[in-house]
Amino acid sequence: MSIKLVHSQEPTGKAGVRQRVRKMVRPDGGLKCPNCGCQTSLTTVNGAFVLKGRKQGGTVIHKDVCSECWRRGIIVSMLPELKPVE
Ligand SMILES: [Zn+2]
Repeated sequence: MSIKLVHSQEPTGKAGVRQRVRKMVRPDGGLKCPNCGCQTSLTTVNGAFVLKGRKQGGTVIHKDVCSECWRRGIIVSMLPELKPVE
């Protein structure tokens, strides 16, 4: 039995696109998923109701998570890690 070294190859297809999108520069202050590079955020609310024509109440279940990852069952926060002010 012998072990061979294999050079890393450029990812092709979906993996290549995903890696390219992840490397793209984020617009200043814009939200971007660190997992897939998607820029669409999602907030889910449970139990909201309409009163006098306006939506009210409800409990926020997920806030500012990546919509694309959420569809795949992964919860990824799109907000950057906030550092405490010193
Ligand atoms: Zn994502």
